[in-house]
Amino acid sequence: MFAPQLVDVPGRWPACRVSRCGSTAAQARLDVPLGPIVLACENGHFRGFRRHDEFRRAGRFAGAFDAGAFPADVPADAPERRVEPSARRRTEVLEDAERCGLCRTPPARHPLRGEDVVRSDRDVWTWLQRWRPAVYASVAQSIAVSRASGAAPAAWRLALPADLREQVVESLHASELTTDQVVPPARLATIVTELTKRELDFAVSGLLIAVCRACASARTSAPLDARSYLRAYVDAVHGGDEALARADAPRWRMMEKIAASGARAAPALRSA
Ligand SMILES: [Zn+2]
Ligand SMILES: [Zn+2]
Repeated sequence: MFAPQLVDVPGRWPACRVSRCGSTAAQARLDVPLGPIVLACENGHFRGFRRHDEFRRAGRFAGAFDAGAFPADVPADAPERRVEPSARRRTEVLEDAERCGLCRTPPARHPLRGEDVVRSDRDVWTWLQRWRPAVYASVAQSIAVSRASGAAPAAWRLALPADLREQVVESLHASELTTDQVVPPARLATIVTELTKRELDFAVSGLLIAVCRACASARTSAPLDARSYLRAYVDAVHGGDEALARADAPRWRMMEKIAASGARAAPALRSA
């Protein structure tokens, strides 16, 4: 089981400009194996993506991550390196995204657009009601508000028991957008030799999608079949329209091959 890593990155950083935060610190986060490394201020505001190489031996942040979760020595031609999209490509995908490509949840805060989208107590109330109905139900029950009324009492968050308030915070947090590949990198790394250069480029950069953190981490634990990869492609790249996805026949054929290989492969990670 992969444990997400959050580490301080040394150095003085430009003052964070989100919500007059002003932080000059940075933390690096790695949520899933071979997934994106996100740099944020200590209050979680997005500072950008970083290449894995910067955290490997001879990189400027070498040693920041625990060696067990993030091997320092990876040969130049290792599959891990060949399945990593560029930081620029990741940023482009996030810039274009309004919501998670898989579960369609809009993020409580868009990483690249500064201010929170869901800000006031009322915003959070409405957001939970629409996107996290189970959490919303517990919250409504806890503060004895009729779900039918739908109205948010003033300062309702303060009235919650600590564990429920934590659940609300976690729900908002897990809606944060990040990037993933339709066939996730840990699995893609095991099939690089089965793919042509064109197919691999497509799998790495063309199949890069914006997803919420909840979906990204769920995808690493559940082994997916070929149909699920195709479904993710249709949903996240073509807005759920399979006819549209199939209409681009050359890409659909590549996708079918990548999905079939990816589903056969066992996710393997270089152990430290
Ligand atoms: Zn900040
Ligand atoms: Zn999602």
